[in-house]
Amino acid sequence: MLILQNYIDGNLQKPISGQYVNSIDPATSVPFAQVPDSDDADVHAAALAAQKAFPAWSSADANTRAKYLQRIAELIEANLETLAQAESLDSGKPVALARRLDIPRAASNFSFFASAIRQFASESHVTGHRLLDYTLRNPIGVVGCISPWNLPLYLFSWKIAPALAAGNCVVAKPSEITPYTAYLLSELCIEAGLPPGVLNVVHGTGPVAGAAIVKHPLIKAISFTGSTRAGREIATVAAPMFKKISLELGGKNPVIIFADCDYEKMLETTLRSSFTNQGQICLCGSRIYIEHSIYEKFRADFVQKTKQLAVGDPKIEENSIGAIVSEQHFLKIMSYFSIAENEGGNILCGGKQYHLQGRCANGRFIEPTVIEGLPVSCRTNQEEIFGPVVTITPFRTEQEAIEMANATEYGLASVIWTQNLTRAHRVAAVIESGIVWVNCWLERDLRTPFGGIKNSGVGREGGLEALRFFTEAKNITVNLT
Ligand code: NAD
Repeated sequence: MLILQNYIDGNLQKPISGQYVNSIDPATSVPFAQVPDSDDADVHAAALAAQKAFPAWSSADANTRAKYLQRIAELIEANLETLAQAESLDSGKPVALARRLDIPRAASNFSFFASAIRQFASESHVTGHRLLDYTLRNPIGVVGCISPWNLPLYLFSWKIAPALAAGNCVVAKPSEITPYTAYLLSELCIEAGLPPGVLNVVHGTGPVAGAAIVKHPLIKAISFTGSTRAGREIATVAAPMFKKISLELGGKNPVIIFADCDYEKMLETTLRSSFTNQGQICLCGSRIYIEHSIYEKFRADFVQKTKQLAVGDPKIEENSIGAIVSEQHFLKIMSYFSIAENEGGNILCGGKQYHLQGRCANGRFIEPTVIEGLPVSCRTNQEEIFGPVVTITPFRTEQEAIEMANATEYGLASVIWTQNLTRAHRVAAVIESGIVWVNCWLERDLRTPFGGIKNSGVGREGGLEALRFFTEAKNITVNLT
């Protein structure tokens, strides 16, 4: 059994209370690690260490900070296989996916912000020949970063890298369900020689360690990715303390398929946008709207391809669908099958647990599932399931597709399939989401703003948006006369 530790003030440390929770391999249901069940005392120690490190780190020039970030990126790349295996073990995702997506992206997050901070410029304005205004972008101080289990190191580093690049010191908490790669990152930061206290990783549960970060008076900003429920709780605590908050929350993303799309490309990509990472990417499309003239063909082809997806042991390279991350999440996804049926849905494929033999006999796997025949307003079409489950629905007009796509409380991402350029732009402009992909999915340029509207979040990550979030603007006006 591995015993993970917190990373505070440059050292790996046990939780002060001595309490741990288990981390379980979802593919086998066997505990493989003990994770610190940290509390207020550990968070306080981390916040003090970060505060102590802040003067030197924030006053170092951007090149110095960038060199540390670049070194961390290189160490992630050098340890790609170890990290990919750890991510797969912890989350149940296919190791091939972790190797291709999660870990390379974590390295890119550090190298991208190492470069971005060197380019980060602020504005100046001259009013006539009378006044000169210029804006300083100062680091905030100690900031908190809290991330979820679905893309563990990918999303953890997506917050930490810009926060550090901008000159802040960080108290960060990964999900208690998938802490392993955050722990390994701590070891890499020590190897990189990152000064003590600049980054502190405190493990533990949301209601205890997470809540302690959110309410700690030394922690001046909170960057959170996770559920809309937890985001709301965090806002309730952080807003009256006037903390800066960035909330990246849940989604129920629509995919709109017009009859004039590039059919083969659409089919292959829609399969990925539905089921990659067991459908547990906040950007997965879970409500698929298809123009009625190709609905029957799409249904037949999509169900056939869904049935061919290889579900199984995440360690086996060929498998594209791994295990569901936790017992609780497994039960939540499974509960939607009876909800959908009670709502009048017809399960075309999947809709049940997938049983394996041997090593994974006790693992939690779910067959990729396609459901049709549901109204837009039902729970299955309104609530975030966050699993390998999609609904398919025909539409007759562009206007009807737009109305159905917009008819949820969420607004994170959407996908439009059409070869009609004018329509693509027209629909993209009115879809209520922070991100729209036209004839593609999950293409991410790290310079672009990332985030949702409505109940999918507040604020934007990515590129200069992240650097702006992690800095305070100070305007200075000089009288030139
Ligand atoms: P979650 O909200 O349960 O937990 C996320 C993190 O917050 C964990 O580290 C958890 O310990 C912590 N946490 C929970 N309650 C807290 C509280 N009251 N105070 C402080 N911290 C708290 O989410 P999850 O189940 O880990 O992740 C799945 C969710 O994340 C889905 O809703 C998904 O859509 C969302 N998500 C969103 C994005 C995005 O960019 N918008 C990306 C990935 C995942």
